[in-house]
Amino acid sequence: MTEKYSQTKARTDIIEIARLCYERRYICGMEGNFSIRLEENLILTTPAGVCKGRINEDDLVLVDLTGAPKDARNKRPSTELKMHLTVYQSRPDVKACVHAHPTYAVAFSVAGVDLNQHILPEVVTTLGKIPLAPYATPSTDEVSDSIAPIVKEHDSLILDHHGALTYGADLWDAYYKLETIEHHAQTLYIAHTLGGAKTLDKPEIEKLMKTCATYGISQPKL
Ligand SMILES: [Zn+2]
Repeated sequence: MTEKYSQTKARTDIIEIARLCYERRYICGMEGNFSIRLEENLILTTPAGVCKGRINEDDLVLVDLTGAPKDARNKRPSTELKMHLTVYQSRPDVKACVHAHPTYAVAFSVAGVDLNQHILPEVVTTLGKIPLAPYATPSTDEVSDSIAPIVKEHDSLILDHHGALTYGADLWDAYYKLETIEHHAQTLYIAHTLGGAKTLDKPEIEKLMKTCATYGISQPKL
């Protein structure tokens, strides 16, 4: 671990990003969950059974890497916390996770249509491939099993018929990846309604990969 995420900033970031996700309709009702790794074995996360658009900083829950409560006044953490823990356990570099149900991105998985068409340079250079984890019953160990092979290679994924999971160096980094996925899915959907998406050709993709090296951006896996 490099520098620690201060607990005060972590609480502020989770509340702000949870509200943003609710307002932008990436989540609705009681959906979605957010977490930040404060220390190697200490996670701050959102509680179960409440609307994440209306939570306060005191509602957040501290757990360890196994999901066990770490303070006396703990509320119950999200039933989907396990997938966050799977990410933290296999990726020491990750400090925050966002799980939401963005409509367009999830609709592609529901329809069985491939989201991985290279149409936008920004998406190619920031996310590369957006992998699809096989369908798993939400809130069970099946979800952790379905994402485990993907997590080491990619910083975002779609859960089939369910939602998106993004993660990174801090919660804003994870949130921006979620925004990028949903923007990509919306653009792709509109292109299909206009007659079909024209993808970037292989030489253009190779040039984009070279720009990652030029600007010192880590090259995502395609
Ligand atoms: Zn979910």
